[in-house]
Amino acid sequence: MYKEKGNEKGTEYILQKSIQHIKGIGQSRAMLFNKLGIFTIGDAVTYFPRDYEDRGRFKTISQMSDGEMCSFEGVIASKVTESRPRRGLTIQKVSVRDNTGTIFAVWFNQSYLKNAFRIGEKYIFFGKVNKKNSYIEIQNPVYEKADSENKKNTCRIVPIYPSTAKLTQNIIRTTIENALELVSGKIEDCLPQYIRSKYKLSEINYAICNIHFPKCDESFKMARYRLVFEELLLLQLGLLSIKNSLENSKKGIRFKKIAEMQSFIESLPFKLTDAQMMVFKEIEKDMESEKVMNRLVQGDVGSGKTIVAVLAMFKAVKSGYQAALMVPTEILAEQHYKSINEHMSKYGINIALLTGSQPKSKKQEILEQTKDGSVDIVIGTHALIEDNVLFERLGLVITDEQHRFGVRQRNTLSKKGDNPDMLVMTATPIPRTLALILYGDLDISIINELPPGRKPVKTYAVDNSMRERINNFIRKKVSEGQQVYIVCPLIEESDAIDAKSAVKTAEDIANCFSDLRVGLIHGKMKQADKEAVMRGFVEGNLDILVSTTVIEVGVNVPNATVMVIENAERFGLAQLHQLRGRVGRGSAQSYCILFNESRSQVSRERMKVMEKTNDGFVISEKDLKIRGPGEFFGTRQHGLPDLKIANLYRDMDILKSAQEAALEILSKDRHLEKDEHLKLRNKIEEMFLSKLKDVGLN
Ligand code: ADP
Ligand code: MG
Repeated sequence: MYKEKGNEKGTEYILQKSIQHIKGIGQSRAMLFNKLGIFTIGDAVTYFPRDYEDRGRFKTISQMSDGEMCSFEGVIASKVTESRPRRGLTIQKVSVRDNTGTIFAVWFNQSYLKNAFRIGEKYIFFGKVNKKNSYIEIQNPVYEKADSENKKNTCRIVPIYPSTAKLTQNIIRTTIENALELVSGKIEDCLPQYIRSKYKLSEINYAICNIHFPKCDESFKMARYRLVFEELLLLQLGLLSIKNSLENSKKGIRFKKIAEMQSFIESLPFKLTDAQMMVFKEIEKDMESEKVMNRLVQGDVGSGKTIVAVLAMFKAVKSGYQAALMVPTEILAEQHYKSINEHMSKYGINIALLTGSQPKSKKQEILEQTKDGSVDIVIGTHALIEDNVLFERLGLVITDEQHRFGVRQRNTLSKKGDNPDMLVMTATPIPRTLALILYGDLDISIINELPPGRKPVKTYAVDNSMRERINNFIRKKVSEGQQVYIVCPLIEESDAIDAKSAVKTAEDIANCFSDLRVGLIHGKMKQADKEAVMRGFVEGNLDILVSTTVIEVGVNVPNATVMVIENAERFGLAQLHQLRGRVGRGSAQSYCILFNESRSQVSRERMKVMEKTNDGFVISEKDLKIRGPGEFFGTRQHGLPDLKIANLYRDMDILKSAQEAALEILSKDRHLEKDEHLKLRNKIEEMFLSKLKDVGLN
């Protein structure tokens, strides 16, 4: 799709030249810059500051207060003296005067400064003020001669770059400034004029200069707005273009209208919610059309995503195809296998389970049946993407709990069929705008309602003073025949982190409730052992399950009604919500107890959110606000290009405009073929190289 290359001899060419063309950069320094990911002049000018220091605000010596960073102009009033308070430490000191007083400029281990200053010369200093009674000094100040024409480190807003030890801020700053000089006025604007005027975006050369060395706050804001907008626009355009070409390049399967669909839906043990019905209609439409379905179903924990997947699989099988459902754990695979079998067995549909721990002979049998087509639906774990799994006519691929799988794994499974339709399901609901970016190459359906009659889980944040009451509560619930989860943040005790570990908690609990059956499950256990413990809990042979977050995903134990979470302050809100989703799955009232050992205000607020709402969308929005999307997901995991300047959450408003602009551009020129869009296209190609490989377009 992105065949045409940019004009090699054009002005953009300078951006592709090696950084060794920049003044002051030889081979060895170039290597240090390479470590920061800077290879070309273009990389250098787009290596954006992580922060800024305003060195343009001057004070007189008498105006200075302790601890502040400030600039001042003064005259050298003494020779530099050097003292050696202990081995390995020398201190250089010089006194500096202005009309209002005298101050000492002080450096550490900078012997070369001994001869740097002459009495009577005027300098500008910037540094941290240290003031004790009548004594005042400025520590490690940067300095430049007051009459020097070209002051780089004082008198202006100075950028601070992410850096490694060997490259000082000064070197990076000078290098980037020299690079800017080389490209000055020569960067071509990739944004078409009509977009720039409509969204009031500054010109690219201006933006690049002012993001590094802003003339004032206003010019910084304009520069950043433009660059963030551009980055988000490219991201959005790239994702939409990938989606377009996926839809165009491959002809998908036209699944049939199935007459039995209605009676199948009526045969289910419950009535579908309106939201489930609506989402299934969207899926049905995709499946019947010729385009390849790439759809994400978002829905809160317990919203009933599985049954929607079941309907889609039913349709696929009744149209003469096979379907595959991939889930992250064996227990979940087994549970899905059982419940789906219940729904489908009367319809003559042949379902198989494929997991890593099955006996070889059983596995072999299933692999053969999958290959010869006698199995209609295969439900399994990662085992499904192994090379030896072949299908006769795979038409529909579904991944459950999408956040546990990468893009690559999804696509590996898809490639086992001939352009099968694809459905991914996630219980980590996120705001739609963000979903559009993170899953930009997918269509999105949302199940925004829970089945009726659910009792919301009652949630209480408590501290250690409640320990005994909670233990009594656990005992009471167990005596009523119910089961309890206890979740801990760590597996083993650690000196470094003060938090409860699963191993220690399991011991304590076993001691405290010696008459009850207590199990322990955590991530370091062998898969088979984990599964065995989990199975014990599922089958009701354990009263209390102590665990780490391994139980976060999808498992259904309707008889478990109490979840205790230790050190709840250590978990993200979205994760707490996922964990809480393990209870409240049966008819009895369920409870979630959050032990919060932190006294911080933020922590209390977060616990309040959990107490107040059961709505995963609300919770994830709060979580994003607190933690930011980077930590929330890791964009890498989603196969997205790294963002250099934009922050998907904080720049949500710009994101909305950029999305609007992307749609506008594509509506004019779907394949970005017009002259005014060629530069955009080249940039997208650059940005998305690895993603395009992932989805097999390059
Ligand atoms: P999730 O969206 O978290 O994957 P599930 O698909 O596991 O949720 O469904 C949770 C429970 O709700 C299951 O026991 C399922 O049978 C039940 N369920 C699903 N849809 C409905 C409905 N429309 N009415 C009543 N119960 C439902
Ligand atoms: Mg589920």
